Amino acid sequence: MTAITQAQFEMLISLQNIEVDKIEVQRTLDAVAAKVAELEGELEAFAEEVEHEKQALQANKALYADFEDQIQTNDTLISKIEEKRRSVKTEREYQSLIKEEEQLRARKAQIEEEMIACMEQMETRTETIATKEQELAQIREQVESDIQSVRQEASTSEMRHADLTREWEQMASDIDARLLEKFVKVKNQTADGRALAPVKNAICLACHMNIPPQMYNELQRFDSLKLCPFCFRILYWDNS
Ligand SMILES: [Zn+2]
Repeated sequence: MTAITQAQFEMLISLQNIEVDKIEVQRTLDAVAAKVAELEGELEAFAEEVEHEKQALQANKALYADFEDQIQTNDTLISKIEEKRRSVKTEREYQSLIKEEEQLRARKAQIEEEMIACMEQMETRTETIATKEQELAQIREQVESDIQSVRQEASTSEMRHADLTREWEQMASDIDARLLEKFVKVKNQTADGRALAPVKNAICLACHMNIPPQMYNELQRFDSLKLCPFCFRILYWDNS
């Protein structure tokens, strides 16, 4: 059984109050961090959209260059045929060259149509990129100012957190090492960081279970440290 005095209990209660405040402030800071991450994520997603559009434009440009090459090859073939036609001997040969040239010209017309479509896509994409880049600049500005104001709000909480940490350490340094160790151990095992639980009318106010009568009697003497048999918090008698 760990011995404890009422004064020491009161110190532990003060320590816990600081702890609870700290947890609350930490929650605010976590929310700020989450908000900043969310804003940054939105910005990143939009920037990615612009980047995709740019990549699509690059692909269009490559395709257009490819069409230009095809046209050039096609033109070379056509002039070769025209040259050959001047020296043909038979009508059949002549007709065959005419047919070949027609096919090449048809292919050329087809490529040119595709080039027009490609050009139109390039124009649309260029416009889209310009618009989106403007939007992106606006969003970036907005997000940066939002992040700044969220961080400004957080700085108050950060200072409060640092103050509480100092207060905690000061308070803790005055507490018996064995008690502090026990307190920290129990605190680390609870989800809400509350190591202490008040007991009122024989009920643990943390888990709302009934404390055995013998233990309840002993608690009222404020002379030994006891853990709730159900939630394992350090119990103290709340006689208010
Ligand atoms: Zn309990």
